[in-house]
Amino acid sequence: MNMTSPIRTVYVNGQYCPESEATVSIFDRGYLFADAIYEVTCVLGGKLVDFDGHMARLQRSLGELDMGMPLTVEELLAIHRKLVAANNVVEGLIYMQISRGVADRDFNFPPEDTRPVVVMFTQSRPVIESPLAKRGLKVISLPDIRWGRRDIKTVQLLYPSIAKNAAYKAGADDAWLVQDGYVTEASSANAYIVTSDGKIVTRKLSFDILHGITRAAVFTLAAESGYILEERSFTLQEAFDAREAFITSATSFVTSVVEIDGVAIGDGTIGPVSKRLREIYIERATAAAS
Ligand code: PMP
Repeated sequence: MNMTSPIRTVYVNGQYCPESEATVSIFDRGYLFADAIYEVTCVLGGKLVDFDGHMARLQRSLGELDMGMPLTVEELLAIHRKLVAANNVVEGLIYMQISRGVADRDFNFPPEDTRPVVVMFTQSRPVIESPLAKRGLKVISLPDIRWGRRDIKTVQLLYPSIAKNAAYKAGADDAWLVQDGYVTEASSANAYIVTSDGKIVTRKLSFDILHGITRAAVFTLAAESGYILEERSFTLQEAFDAREAFITSATSFVTSVVEIDGVAIGDGTIGPVSKRLREIYIERATAAAS
């Protein structure tokens, strides 16, 4: 349930309907096999942030699973805009999920002509004035035991959900995942440190992490602002010793991480680099939203 508006209008396979009436089949492959791709696009001032970036990644994710785009980018844009308007979303997000479709349960893919199931809904919530961003995140480290194709944005989110839950139980806000001694990313965001000599370090793109749309935008903005970026893996120890740490994602923008496994990062408060990058990102995203 969305607490901010009583009954949302959602989109299910060509239909706009009240959320209480929206249904998908129990045979949907997204439900049975996590055989579905999703995207989350941020809404700022009633406009979409980096819609084209999300569409490019959507197309890539679908392609990696041998699925095509069920609708054109223009059609998807029109639906996004219609939902934003129908639900009066000023700030928040749109969730979109595309599953391979409905077929009797079978590990083999269904016939090529199976119709994908497209679902979209909005969530209204403050994203700029986030209490967590104001205070800075506390994270715990956990082993990264996700599958080997994290670059594909599938709805197979059980482990990230378990990790986030474990973080909450431990009194933290999120988890940073670690593989072979190196940080991969956060449960639902990319992870960065700022080294003692002021460089911004984040893992390079590979199958190990999601290719964040916010990451790409922040790279451009950071370079324009004169920051030096280094794409390489970093250890937890490097993170403990870092001057700053932060995460990026479509709905958290740039959010400072002030504590990892109980160790204060830098002086344990929001650092100047993440603070500045957050400001620049919000400014640019707001101006460029469409
Ligand atoms: N990594 C993971 C695992 C994520 O789930 C997300 C957000 N969906 C991100 C990174 C950040 O990606 P984006 O900036 O496109 O939201």
